Amino acid sequence: MPKINMKTPIVEMDGDEMTRIIWKWVKEKLIEPYVDLKTEYYDLHLKSRDNTDDQVTKDAANAIKKYGVGVKCATITANTDRKKEYDLKRISKSPNGIIRKIMDGTIFRKPILLDTVDPLVPTWEKPITIARHSYGDIYASVSLEVPKDTKAEIVLTDKNSNELKRTIYDFQEPGVVMGEYNLDSSIRNFAKSCFKYALEQKTDLIFSTKDTITKEYDYKFKDIFNELYEKEYESQFKEAGITFLYTLIDDAVARVMRSEGGLIWACKNYDGDVMSDMIATVYGSLALMTSVLVSPEGAYEYEAAHGTVTRHYYRHLDGEETSTNPIATIFAWTGALRKRGQMDSNEELVKFADALEKATIKTYDSGIITKDLLKLSKAKDKKWVNSEQILDEIAKNIEISI
Ligand code: NAP
Ligand code: MG
Repeated sequence: MPKINMKTPIVEMDGDEMTRIIWKWVKEKLIEPYVDLKTEYYDLHLKSRDNTDDQVTKDAANAIKKYGVGVKCATITANTDRKKEYDLKRISKSPNGIIRKIMDGTIFRKPILLDTVDPLVPTWEKPITIARHSYGDIYASVSLEVPKDTKAEIVLTDKNSNELKRTIYDFQEPGVVMGEYNLDSSIRNFAKSCFKYALEQKTDLIFSTKDTITKEYDYKFKDIFNELYEKEYESQFKEAGITFLYTLIDDAVARVMRSEGGLIWACKNYDGDVMSDMIATVYGSLALMTSVLVSPEGAYEYEAAHGTVTRHYYRHLDGEETSTNPIATIFAWTGALRKRGQMDSNEELVKFADALEKATIKTYDSGIITKDLLKLSKAKDKKWVNSEQILDEIAKNIEISI
């Protein structure tokens, strides 16, 4: 069979440790035999990021903006231990943070469902996607301990030194205080990415805040979402047959729990942080979560939600057998290939992405699995295979799915 041609490259970002090993195998065993793979390659190995003072990461992010589609392997976020381990010049910044900042995007986390792994919530038959606003709020806040007999105030000073002052609390006893902020532009870009992604996925969107309590703060979020929806997206949503609902977070929790899934839940920064961990747990495992960063202009970066699986890597280096789950890495690639295919009107590439996903799910549902799902899988005669064997087994099923 002739290989599928690609018109435009995908921005490929290689990474670290066990996921770097799996990355290479996924390409060699599952993609390159079928696709004449065109990528613009950036090596985001920790050493390469260190050698280039993170320039390689910035270049990759700008390339995603240029081409519209990228796929990223998990990468180590440096700390003092890693600095020693890799003999680094300095502790570089989180590559995901750098990319997110340049793309000014929103992260959508979506679980991959297997027939043989039951979610802990029995009614959740379809995936629930969490969109987390990854800017500001408590993650960019200032907090202080307050001694007794101290008044805490917020002061806004404009460029002419005019002051607007509000008392937060007049402390008669010791306590704590915190100031946080957000920006209209960031909230608007978050809203745009959410509306774009919902339209692309043809999936209902819910956005929730606690606007009954933090009136000015959360009203801003609510107003920006509602205004943008009415102005730019309402007719497109109607045409696509999907809905947008703004609601109080308390109500959103009840709706989501009672739902059958199949919705996107947009959350403020903290809510999204916590809820995405809950959703991942309910659907089975971090190894079954995909992640896509969507810019307000509509550029997409796909990756697995898990990290570099360090413990498995050290065992691999010691010559021991590992059984690392490649599903989220494969789905990062299929996400990118499908999007590339859609953007380039390359039907064959879209079909191949579907076939590879089907082959992956079929393999696991047939009982050939990785060790992480040994307890969770309900497949009959299940048996675990090692990190390389699982990919060979999936490869056998691609032929059938294509
Ligand atoms: P991790 O790599 O996600 O792994 C944590 C544990 O979860 C593993 O030790 C393994 O458990 C299990 N696990 C995760 N993915 C798995 C898979 N695909 N198959 C089987 N088991 C899997 O998280 P971490 O250990 O906290 O972080 C390791 C490194 O990854 C760090 O340097 C961190 O900076 C980086 N990181 C990168 C990203 C990213 O690039 N997006 C995200 C998170 C973390 P067992 O060992 O019990 O089998
Ligand atoms: Mg979290």
